[in-house]
Amino acid sequence: MLDHVLKNWEALEKNDPDVFQAIIGEENREKKGIELIPSENYTYPEVFAANGSVLTNKYAEGYPGKRYYGGQEFTDKVESIAISRAKELFRCEHANVQPLSGSPMNQAVYLAFLNPGDTVLGMDLSHGGHLTHGAPVSHMGRIFNFVRYKTRPEENGRIDFDELMRIAKETKPKIVLCGYTSYPRDYDYADFKKIADEVGAITMADVAHIGGLIAGGVMRNPFDYGFDIVTATTHKSLRGPRAGMILCKEKYAQAIDKSVFPGLQGGPHMHTIAAIAVTLGKALQPEFKQYAKQILANAKTLAQILMDNGAKLITNGTDNHMMVMNTVESFGLGGKEAEQILDKISITTNKQVIPDDPNPPLRPSGIRLGTPAATTRGMKEAEMKMIGNWMVKALKNHQDENLLAQLKVEVEEMCNKFAVPGL
Ligand SMILES: *Cc1c(COP(=O)(O)O)cnc(C)c1O
Repeated sequence: MLDHVLKNWEALEKNDPDVFQAIIGEENREKKGIELIPSENYTYPEVFAANGSVLTNKYAEGYPGKRYYGGQEFTDKVESIAISRAKELFRCEHANVQPLSGSPMNQAVYLAFLNPGDTVLGMDLSHGGHLTHGAPVSHMGRIFNFVRYKTRPEENGRIDFDELMRIAKETKPKIVLCGYTSYPRDYDYADFKKIADEVGAITMADVAHIGGLIAGGVMRNPFDYGFDIVTATTHKSLRGPRAGMILCKEKYAQAIDKSVFPGLQGGPHMHTIAAIAVTLGKALQPEFKQYAKQILANAKTLAQILMDNGAKLITNGTDNHMMVMNTVESFGLGGKEAEQILDKISITTNKQVIPDDPNPPLRPSGIRLGTPAATTRGMKEAEMKMIGNWMVKALKNHQDENLLAQLKVEVEEMCNKFAVPGL
């Protein structure tokens, strides 16, 4: 029945060997080393199948039961399954699964509720906020007025809600936005809700990074605190295809749906939506709770071993899957140098700004680490301890090329024992 799948790959190998070889090269790269970039993961074999399916051929502008083209029997089925699973998993009233990725999902929310010049309260970029939260280089940052709040790294990253209330009263935001891409703690959503209620703003949580941890029940769900809108990517801790979802209360359903289509996008990517449905089905299984728990346990173990060996982590630890290390303070190395040294021993991380970083984004003072991908491969606490020790050894002795070469062999030998799903 599935002969055509193999035939398709054979056709690619034969007819476009350059692209085929690049894909095989990436397969080997992903197997060889330890992936610690916290936004990355290894998806499911079933997602590869759905994502590479015939649904890529189909135009399905509109929503299930209300499309602008014929032939929607199966697309409607696929999108309806994705929507109902999203609602069940995140305990929400409405779900839109059409955003093409994380950035357009956030844009669709802003454009649904704001006029140019309106104010959004969002977390400062260097304290963990995302580019799409109004960075000056983003288009959204030019159109809307983003006002930033900060964390207190010296108080384990606590957000000063008295200060936030003061800023909110002064700037009258239409949206109070929380969510992060490099902040290693959980939120007190009730405090954000209180501030938004005080100034009559909509509450929005961007859980792009931690969607899988919320789905797995190991981090707080903003809907349990009365939030209006939650945005989530599907390709990070949820392990799915590259896409975004907007989850919301029923009273915002129409505004959100209209904003995504026809407001911002055309035809939805139905192959991706099928892959989202598969991903959410997996996340509803009991095993996923165990996976989410293990991601957290691994992050705590890795954080501890690093700190025990002199590393300075922002907020002194983690409540989620990620860590931000101040490499300058820890090892006298810039983030870029640290990233490159770890690359030499096949451990992939990314350079990262730290709160109020004195250095620019391309030469920042830290690196960011996370455990979802390694956890997907089956690595547990014992492996985290090995990884932490390898990292410290390499960063402390980075001039010793022989040692780095030896560590690389050890890292790759360990990786060999943990298969990458679907490869
Ligand atoms: C990753 C991320 C996004 C954007 O996702 P893309 O798919 O890269 O566009 C948005 N918000 C947060 C908090 C993120 O971490």
